[in-house]
Amino acid sequence: MSKTSALSQLRQQLQRLPGVGENAAARWAQWLLVNRQGQALAEALKLALSLEPCSQCQRLAVGDDCPACADVADAVRVAVVVNEDQADRLLASGYPGYCFICHGRLSPTSGVGPAELGLAKLQQGPWQRVDAFFGDDVEDKATVLFLRQCFKGQAEVYHVTEEDGWRN
Ligand SMILES: [Zn+2]
Repeated sequence: MSKTSALSQLRQQLQRLPGVGENAAARWAQWLLVNRQGQALAEALKLALSLEPCSQCQRLAVGDDCPACADVADAVRVAVVVNEDQADRLLASGYPGYCFICHGRLSPTSGVGPAELGLAKLQQGPWQRVDAFFGDDVEDKATVLFLRQCFKGQAEVYHVTEEDGWRN
């Protein structure tokens, strides 16, 4: 690979990060190379990517020693949330069930479908109650609608916002 195409590939990969445009990607690439920070970043990234997500709740980099799944009072109740911060807040508030992390919302226009969110895995659970913690925009509502269809006849799906909080 030529030096120019290696650099352009680095810029392209950086540009795929959320909120990073062409100019920022070029600045980051230059900084990484000029300041010789790239190796440390590459090693940290390689290590992080070698860690497995929890097979039950999709929490990243914990494998099956997931602290969140080890301590669940209500094994037939699950909260479905968008990200780990939301899951942490919910569990800290005493939520009694599992907390399944989608790492996003359904968004056909961005190529995010049920498979990208791991929803087939979620469907395999023994759930009787699903608390879907999503907001009110189009992607949030589409995700909740999809969950309702998935669990029809199996579990009650409640659309709750984080501000509402969970109830028994
Ligand atoms: Zn877990």
